[in-house]
Amino acid sequence: MPTIGVLALQGDFEAHQRVLQELGCSAPQVRAAKDLPQLDALVIPGGESTTMLKLLRLEDLLEPLRQFGLAKPIFGTCAGTILLASEVTRPEQESLALMDLTVERNAYGRQVHSQVTRIPYEGGELEAVFIRAPVIRRAGPGVQVLSEFQGTPVLVSEGRHLAATFHPELTADRRVHRLFLDRI
Ligand code: GLN
Repeated sequence: MPTIGVLALQGDFEAHQRVLQELGCSAPQVRAAKDLPQLDALVIPGGESTTMLKLLRLEDLLEPLRQFGLAKPIFGTCAGTILLASEVTRPEQESLALMDLTVERNAYGRQVHSQVTRIPYEGGELEAVFIRAPVIRRAGPGVQVLSEFQGTPVLVSEGRHLAATFHPELTADRRVHRLFLDRI
């Protein structure tokens, strides 16, 4: 089974580690550039993308992660999706720009910061937990939309990368993590 690192600077990285270990992977925490060469793939968890960005700069990890993503698969959830996108709005912020996406942060408005709902997915609906989620406002021509909710993409892939605006690591359904494993 592959070794899939989980970026562990901030956010719900432990939940991803548990899922990956349950699926038989080795899932070491990644905190520095020296942790990257041993990995087959990487997960960037949910959390606060601005905080992660700050810590990535502090650790000089932004460019190494970008280089990693040019060669190997990355799966981003929520804040991880914001970091993978080529364009981030509300407000604009730097990102890894590894997927051709425009992502608007905290886009579900004030009343509905968070919700648990069901979204369409191949092989039957998925339970999806949205927590102060971003909305994917634009997906480039190379992006495959795997699921939509309220008319916008919530699960997308492009080349080797996968991104969800919800949190598959917080529900019992393992299909999204399995999908990522299948691509490695
Ligand atoms: N609102 C967060 C951000 O803008 C993302 C929330 C999450 O990862 N659950 O980074």
